[in-house]
Amino acid sequence: MLFRFFVFVLVLLAGALAGWAMAAETGALLGLAASSLAWFGIDLLRGARVLRWLRHAEPADDIALRGLWGEVVDRARRALRTRDQRTEQSERRLLDFLAAIQASPNGVVLLDPLGRIEWCNQTAAAQLGIDADRDLLQLVGNLVRDPDFAAYYAAGDFSRDIVIQGRQGTVSRPLRLSVQLHSYGDGRKLLLTRDITAVEQADTMRRDFVANVSHEIRTPLTVLTGFVQTMQQLELTAPERTRYLALMAQQSHRMQTLVSDLLTLSRLEGSPLPHAGEWAPVAVLLEQCEQEARALCVALSKAQELRFAPAPQTELAGAHGEILSAMSNLVSNAVRYTPAGGAIEVAWQALPDSRAVFSVRDSGPGIAPEHIGRLTERFYRVDRSRSRDTGGTGLGLAIVKHVVQRHGAQLQIESKPGLGSTFSIVFPASRLRRRVKEQAGLPAPPATESPAG
Ligand code: ADP
Repeated sequence: MLFRFFVFVLVLLAGALAGWAMAAETGALLGLAASSLAWFGIDLLRGARVLRWLRHAEPADDIALRGLWGEVVDRARRALRTRDQRTEQSERRLLDFLAAIQASPNGVVLLDPLGRIEWCNQTAAAQLGIDADRDLLQLVGNLVRDPDFAAYYAAGDFSRDIVIQGRQGTVSRPLRLSVQLHSYGDGRKLLLTRDITAVEQADTMRRDFVANVSHEIRTPLTVLTGFVQTMQQLELTAPERTRYLALMAQQSHRMQTLVSDLLTLSRLEGSPLPHAGEWAPVAVLLEQCEQEARALCVALSKAQELRFAPAPQTELAGAHGEILSAMSNLVSNAVRYTPAGGAIEVAWQALPDSRAVFSVRDSGPGIAPEHIGRLTERFYRVDRSRSRDTGGTGLGLAIVKHVVQRHGAQLQIESKPGLGSTFSIVFPASRLRRRVKEQAGLPAPPATESPAG
């Protein structure tokens, strides 16, 4: 500034001196006036250039000026650059923020003070049937027409959520949405939606499960209590006592089996997946299965033809206790549901694609097609009384399904009423290998036995 003032004084002096040289005192005055006019004129022009540049200011535009105006331009240019960088940064942050909300599994809708949609993410758009572009600035009440939502919005008490029907649902699988409004800013509202279909289903399943277990336990308990009261109140003969005690033992056994099956299911759900490093010969599994099946036939006093195919030279990887329980469940079902005089055939067959099938075929009553899809549901029975009479808990096939899934295998059920049933477990090639005898530790080649097993 001081330098500029100094230059200004010099210019005035130079003008005055030049005027003095030309016309003495008058000339000096004229020179002074002319030089100061020229100074301010030039300054005005440079100022006008800077103003023009500022009007269309882009920091990249070049404007060559020195001195005071040059510094003004430099500072303005730096300020513009900083402003642009900040704008860019906040735009990037806004985009990141919107992308994060877009990625949210929950729906988010921003409403202005009048209840018009300002923005919504894709989840909310799909769940509420909103078009994220077309419906902007539409009243939310015009688009979400559920009467419960209208009442909730009108009441203005948003301390809790409400549950409404979502747009994506179908009649067979309705979509249940939890919706809650939150006020923020200057009368604006945030509408949050969450798909709770699975939570509600799990809740229903849990309630059904508890009801089923209670029912299953209550029946034998009622019978037991009845016998206990009878024995307490009546004088019984020795044979009567023996008969009653046998019936009580039967009911206790039923409860024990139920509890044991429930524990098995809960263990299967809670334990980590069986790893594929433990191998067991299929022949051993089949042998144990056969022993259990024959013992059951004797226990149920059923004369049935039980055929077990020759044991294969194959080993199976997984949790052997679980696999044995799945196989035994299928065989025991066949024994229990096939009437005396019927036939049961248990086989192991290698498939051409290196998988293998364990199958149990019986000549029993068969199952109607409408039941087949539901057999693995807990406590689902085609014929309740027959299941109970033969000691069934209704959990056998649910256990089989779990075991099969945990081993990457598949459960297949083929059955026709009156023509018997075939229950099969298809094991994946990765869990099978040719049996290694006394060669523990050596890597074994994959199973290559013929499809005939
Ligand atoms: P349960 O303990 O009642 O046998 P499961 O889960 O093992 O329960 O089987 C479910 C239902 O499937 C049974 O109640 C029965 O109605 C039907 N079922 C299972 N295996 C057979 C079979 N081999 N033949 C006919 N019905 C069967």
